[in-house]
Amino acid sequence: PGQTTLEFDNVAHKGSISVNNGLFIDGKWCDPVEPDMIDIFNPATGKKIAAVSLGSRKDVDIAVKAAQKAYKTSWGLKCPGTTRGKLLACLADLVERDADQFAALESINVGKPFHVAKAADLGASISCIRYFAGWSDKIQGNAIETNETKLAYTRHEPYGVVGQIIPWNAPLAMLSWKLAPALATGNCIVLKPSEMTPLSALKFADLVVEAGFPPGVVNIVNGYGTTVGQAISDHMDISKVAFTGSTLVGRKILEASARSNLKVVTLELGGKSPTVIFDDCNLDQTVKWATLAMYGNMGQSCVAGSRIFVQEGIYPQFMEKFTAMVKGLGQATGDPFAPATQHGPQVTKDQFDRIMGYIESGKADGATVHVGGDRHGTEGYFIQPTIFTDCTPDMKIVKEEIFGPVSAVMKFKTEEEVIEAANATTYGLSACVFSENVSRALRVAHVIESGSAFINSAQLIDPAIPFGGYKASGIGREHGEYALTTYTQVKAVHVNLGLNL
Ligand code: NAD
Repeated sequence: PGQTTLEFDNVAHKGSISVNNGLFIDGKWCDPVEPDMIDIFNPATGKKIAAVSLGSRKDVDIAVKAAQKAYKTSWGLKCPGTTRGKLLACLADLVERDADQFAALESINVGKPFHVAKAADLGASISCIRYFAGWSDKIQGNAIETNETKLAYTRHEPYGVVGQIIPWNAPLAMLSWKLAPALATGNCIVLKPSEMTPLSALKFADLVVEAGFPPGVVNIVNGYGTTVGQAISDHMDISKVAFTGSTLVGRKILEASARSNLKVVTLELGGKSPTVIFDDCNLDQTVKWATLAMYGNMGQSCVAGSRIFVQEGIYPQFMEKFTAMVKGLGQATGDPFAPATQHGPQVTKDQFDRIMGYIESGKADGATVHVGGDRHGTEGYFIQPTIFTDCTPDMKIVKEEIFGPVSAVMKFKTEEEVIEAANATTYGLSACVFSENVSRALRVAHVIESGSAFINSAQLIDPAIPFGGYKASGIGREHGEYALTTYTQVKAVHVNLGLNL
């Protein structure tokens, strides 16, 4: 394995950042068993910026063996929670120390505006690792009273080796959300980043070594979903898989579990989240939150508020301000490293084409392009922030997750009507409700079928608060104390205090 060096010369970072381009297994950088590489691109230019190793099924086997060995000798029940917590806290500090470099890598590989990557992605990563560092020495069971001849208690034991498969839209944050609770609870990890955005994970691996984690506790095997991802999902010695990505692949992972060893599967999947705006909202604030909810990360957000329902009394005023705001975002589109940029490119040519396909389908189905509706510029994968109006429930742009900067706005009259419309989806990840009437806001938030509901806000995911999906948006929860339960299995111990046969 070698190093891949990226040159930066901009406000965010001047100089080079080097990352190892191999596979990180057993605390060392290795070449894949079957040598193979993948080119990595900058979506703002479409140009190649690096090439990194691609693993295969054989590398997953080696990584799982390293993880098993680490679990039995230096991690899991062999390592006190206080030590795990100290290591995780140190890791959080190291990521914070290198925040500029990580943000620059996320920016050049994913297209995120640098200042957004630094605030949002690095913020979400560092706070999550630090939060779970604090849980590491607080993993405990219960003593259960039954009768005087029995002592019963529970132990919350790690699974052993867990597999983790993550997407490209927030590479470092998704890695941190997966890794931190798994390590806090004593599991060893084989993680596959998205083959398109592995750079921040590769840099992260060096910090795992620097923090002092024993070899084999964290293994990072870059590769395609159909090879490395499938090998993780099929593996007989992996007891749990945590996945973030599309609903389509989530189903495949559940099927692989059923066919192999019935490993526990948790899934964080897609969404088509509603933003519900009532006449009595605080209009200026609502416009800002609704814009963030929809267009944050260029719409490549699982919680994107892509179905915007506006009550008829406020529709004209909302549309006037929302239009101005989204046009402003369109004007702030460009080089992700420029300080004024708020809207960057989509992550890859494939995603760009997919989203442009949805825009064409919206037009063909009779929706009106109110703002945007086309690519931005001629270089890279930029798409104008787009608003469709005159949308109906049967349209593809209303039913399917676009994962791009394209909203569908619809008008409604009554609370009952909007609740029914908001719930008319197979997804259930998130929802936003805007109203200054607290009873109405709570009433609606409670009946929308989603794992999170934000009242008068959006996107404020916090490591202390559980996050996950209802319906086809997922199984299990990340974050908060709930995440600990998805990385531990409960053993009940029965002690006989004097019952004689
Ligand atoms: P994807 O499902 O195509 O890929 C996700 C990961 O799975 C990648 O690492 C990929 O290589 C891997 N993969 C692909 N095929 C596989 C297979 N057969 N077996 C095992 N692994 C396989 O998703 P994506 O395009 O990377 O990300 C976009 C999707 O992720 C969207 O649907 C989005 O909503 C979802 N997402 C959800 C959340 C959440 O927390 N709910 C967060 C971010 C993204």
